[in-house]
Amino acid sequence: MKPLIALRVGFGLLALGSAWTAFTQQGGGLQPPPPLALVKVADDLYSIEGSGGNVAVYLTDEGAIVIDDKFERNYDEIVANVKKITDKPVRYVLNTHHHGDHTGANAKMLGAGYEVLLHKNARANMVNGKMPGIPRIAFADEAQVVLGGKEIRAKHFGRGHTNGDAVVFFPARRAIHTGDLMAGATPLIDYPNGGSVVEFLKTLDGILANDFDVVIPGHGAVQKKADLQAYRDNFSKLVAAAREQVRAGKSKEEIGKFMAANYGWGAMQARLSLDGMMAELK
Ligand SMILES: [Zn+2]
Repeated sequence: MKPLIALRVGFGLLALGSAWTAFTQQGGGLQPPPPLALVKVADDLYSIEGSGGNVAVYLTDEGAIVIDDKFERNYDEIVANVKKITDKPVRYVLNTHHHGDHTGANAKMLGAGYEVLLHKNARANMVNGKMPGIPRIAFADEAQVVLGGKEIRAKHFGRGHTNGDAVVFFPARRAIHTGDLMAGATPLIDYPNGGSVVEFLKTLDGILANDFDVVIPGHGAVQKKADLQAYRDNFSKLVAAAREQVRAGKSKEEIGKFMAANYGWGAMQARLSLDGMMAELK
């Protein structure tokens, strides 16, 4: 259940718009958060876990490429972790989507001279949300970054968690970073920012059609492709069950309780996913 909790905490921070407010709620006030965990995925690929979304770090001879950057308050610790594994500087940062637990340190990254890229819809969501650290460079269907002879590709497969999700591929490592298209025990669909339960399933199928073994999810421990397939299959059951509830004419309250009991939906899903899902599954 830990990843789910992490997702909810992350989203709580985003919703409050103040890292400090939520930090105090999360830790009960004066307790400092536990240190971030640096997890080795391959010799040149790491995941920094804890506090906000997972950060992937891909090492090349010309510098590091960083995927997502947690909250603003995590900036120093992210950079310190990168320094543990390379003497080269960060060169590029990619955001998997706009949420504040994945883009929170953008302003500091940009201030340090690192270029930040994200999907154009995610950029628009940041603009609409008046979020700090809006990147200068956005892409549509796909972006490619080649550094030190190593390549990463960020691909947009359609709507899902939001309307601006990108999956980052590390082809040489047969690994991907999904952002919150895979995060926690149950999906969050951010309808106010273009998410869609129906399109989410197609997006997961689009990702699974690719060749890879390792999955760095938006939150939680590193997974395998089979885990993403299982997540997709559970999602498919969720959609079918929710559709049955909606078409049986159940009330919003009843469906909310059903989703909580059967699919672990919490307050964030009740607030950001329920109305949109009911409208979509009519
Ligand atoms: Zn998110």
